[in-house]
Amino acid sequence: MAKLAENEILKVNDLKKYFPITKGFFNSHVGDVKAVNGISFTLNKGETMGLVGESGCGKTTASRSILRAIDPTEGEVLFRRKNEEVVDLAQLNNEDLKDVRSEIQMIFQDPFSSLNPRMSVLDIIAEPLKVQGWPKSKYKERVEELLDLVGLDKKYMTRYPHAFSGGQRQRIGIARALALEPELVVADEPVSALDVSVQAQILNLLDELKERMNLTLLMVAHDLSVIRYICDKVAVMYLGKLVEIAETEELYTNPKHPYTASLLNAVPEADPHVEWLGENLKGEVPDPSAEIKGCNFASRCPYAEEICENKAPELVDIGDGHWVSCHRKDEIELMGVKLK
Ligand code: SF4
Repeated sequence: MAKLAENEILKVNDLKKYFPITKGFFNSHVGDVKAVNGISFTLNKGETMGLVGESGCGKTTASRSILRAIDPTEGEVLFRRKNEEVVDLAQLNNEDLKDVRSEIQMIFQDPFSSLNPRMSVLDIIAEPLKVQGWPKSKYKERVEELLDLVGLDKKYMTRYPHAFSGGQRQRIGIARALALEPELVVADEPVSALDVSVQAQILNLLDELKERMNLTLLMVAHDLSVIRYICDKVAVMYLGKLVEIAETEELYTNPKHPYTASLLNAVPEADPHVEWLGENLKGEVPDPSAEIKGCNFASRCPYAEEICENKAPELVDIGDGHWVSCHRKDEIELMGVKLK
């Protein structure tokens, strides 16, 4: 098992999640959908990383495999627990996993379907506390604290989810996720189901909470517009692989992978803080079950050459924590965005 450096809390090592494709009466195995095809990254304690890519790129499957909501096919997911013990989440049995779960929590995409409509706010937020055996006298007090933390009045405790707006429901979901002071929070597109006017409030709340609680946050997003305010670094995923990882400002201003540059140009121009340059990406993400010999992005890349069709590029460190997977990274000049 690989090791974690002192400040590292999560290390994902060559993680794969394949879904088998079967055919015919005997369900013969004829191939695999390679939803996650060997991704590696590390997260330091207190760091926020964005995992970004178009829909179908594998980011949600990756986050679910990391959390063991689904079992990965291969790879390591090393996690440092509160008591400093390092465990490989990919290998834990159900019993041990149950024990670790309180230290890793999830904020869901859809605040409308993620809250049980038949449970009061008190019961929703207290659920993880009850599972851990907290007595009622104590968990009520804790729920009050959590409501205050996410900017909701404690008088809402007896109400049910239908009485709240999308933004308020997401605040309830965040309070539930933070109830047990988790070491790691995975947020799966936490604002994409919300009105644009409310998105900034929830992002500001997450940003504030991460500072206050020294949270380590892995934030899944389908574009780069929302995460630049909150993430320390960004990993860009395409067709099951990471194609670029860098600190947020470096990635926005100096992208080295053509896919990152195209995602940057797809961000809504309405963002007043950013000057957008260049053209949008055309075409669809290819079939993830197809055998691709060369670069995964070659079918859509305006810079593709012969080598790109025949040899898969490696993700390499080009310095200062900037990693890129592109044969032509040193030759091509890509336009980033000017952060105002
Ligand atoms: Fe484009 Fe080739 Fe770089 Fe892939 S390796 S991103 S096809 S230039």
